[in-house]
Amino acid sequence: MDFDLTREQRRRGEELDAAVRERLGDSRPSTSDEQVTRERWRVAAELGLTGLCLPAGLGGQGLGALDTALCLETFGRACPDTGLVFGVAAHLLACAVAIRDFATPELAARLLPGLADGSLVAANAITEDEAGSDVASLTAKAVPDGDGYLLTGEKSFASNAPIADLFVTYAVTEPAAGFLGTSGFVVGRDLPGVHIGPPMAKMGLHGCPAGRLTMSGTPVPATHLLGEPGQGGAIFQHSMGWERACLFAIYLGLMAEQLDRCVRHARSRRQFGRRIGEYQAVAHSISAMRLRLESARLLLYRACRHMDQGRADVTEISLAKVAVSEAAVANGLAAMQVFGGSGYLTETGIEAQLRDALPSRVFSGTNEIHLSIVARGTGL
Ligand SMILES: Cc1cc2nc3c(=O)[nH]c(=O)nc-3n(C[C@H](O)[C@H](O)[C@H](O)COP(=O)(O)OP(=O)(O)OC[C@H]3O[C@@H](n4cnc5c(N)ncnc54)[C@H](O)[C@@H]3O)c2cc1C
Repeated sequence: MDFDLTREQRRRGEELDAAVRERLGDSRPSTSDEQVTRERWRVAAELGLTGLCLPAGLGGQGLGALDTALCLETFGRACPDTGLVFGVAAHLLACAVAIRDFATPELAARLLPGLADGSLVAANAITEDEAGSDVASLTAKAVPDGDGYLLTGEKSFASNAPIADLFVTYAVTEPAAGFLGTSGFVVGRDLPGVHIGPPMAKMGLHGCPAGRLTMSGTPVPATHLLGEPGQGGAIFQHSMGWERACLFAIYLGLMAEQLDRCVRHARSRRQFGRRIGEYQAVAHSISAMRLRLESARLLLYRACRHMDQGRADVTEISLAKVAVSEAAVANGLAAMQVFGGSGYLTETGIEAQLRDALPSRVFSGTNEIHLSIVARGTGL
C-alpha cells in the first residue's frame, strides 16, 4: 500500500493547478450567463479537462480513473465556479465514458474527438418525473422503426441540457423485461422532435445550466444505440460508477481550498484580543473539517484505484460517494460558521460552496440509495 502520488501525478497536478488558477481562478463562484458559461467551457477544454479519460488516439488524455479524479480534484480546488467543474465532469463521466465504452467504433470515432476538445457538449438524461431513484421505472419508449428507433418521452433533469449538442439517454425497448428492457441511445440536439426546456432555476451549481429534454417520435438511427438492446441499465450503472468515483473528486478540491481559507481566516481574524483560531471551538471545528476531507479522499482514491485495476467495487464506490458528499455539506456549514457573518455574503464565495455542495447528496443516486447499497455489501 502506497499513499504517495507519483512524481508524474504531482507534476500534472501542479501544472494544472497553475493553469486553472491563471485562466479561471477569478471566475465568479457561479453565473447563470450562458455566454460566460460557454467561454469557461472553452477554456476548460483548452486545458484538456473535457477529455481526461478519453482515448489519446481520439483527442483525449487517455487517463485512468484515479488520474482523472486527481485532475478533477485540482480543477475543483483551483476553479471557484463549481457549477462549471460539475458540468464538465458530468459531460465526461456520465456521457463520454458511455460512448467510449459502448458506442460502435464508427460512432465513437465520430463523436469522441469533439467531446474531448469541447466542441461537443454532452448531457446525460435518464431521470423522469416519476423515475428518480427508481430508474427501472422509466416510461420513455424506443419503438423499432425501419433502420432505427422512434424515441418518445420526457426527461426531467439533465445537467448541461441547455448547452448540450447531444444527449446520452435511456428508453424502454422491451417493456416486459424491466431493468433488462432499457436501452441507451445517443440523441443529437438537432433531431426532429427534440425539445430542450429553458434553464431551470436552481439553488446552486449555477455555472451548470440544467433543463428538461422532450423527445416526440424522435427518429434515432440504430447506429446510435449504445451496446445491445436491453443493455441500457448496465451501461448506465457503468457510467455512474465512473461518475460516482471520479466526479466527486471535484468536492475534495473544493473542500481543500475551503479548508485553506478557513485556516487563513482563523489565523487573521481577531476577537476579544485574540485570533479566533486560538479558541478551541474554532480550532476543533477546523480539525474536524480536515478529518472529514482526508478520510473521504482516501475512500475515493481507493475506489478509483480498484477501478483502474479492473476490480471496481460498487460498495467501495458508494462509500466514497456518501463520504465525500456528506463531508462537503458538513464542511460547508462549518466554513460558514468560521467566517461568521462574512460567510453569508455572496462576495466571499463561502455561501456558494455550501449551496453547491448540497445537491451532491442527491445526484448520482441519493445517499439513502447508496447507504442501501453499502448495507447489501455489508451482508444485510
Ligand atoms: C444538481 C443535480 C443535477 C442532476 N443532474 C442530472 C442529470 O444530469 N441527469 C439526470 O438524469 N438526472 C440528474 N439529476 C436528477 C437526480 O439524478 C435525481 O434527483 C436523483 O436520482 C433522485 O431522484 P428524485 O429527485 O426523483 O428523488 P426521489 O427518488 O423521489 O427521492 C426522494 C427522497 O426519497 C428517498 N428514497 C427514494 N427511494 C428510496 C428507497 N428505496 N430507500 C430509501 N430512500 C428512498 C431519496 O433518498 C430521497 O431522499 C440531477 C439532480 C440534481 C440535484
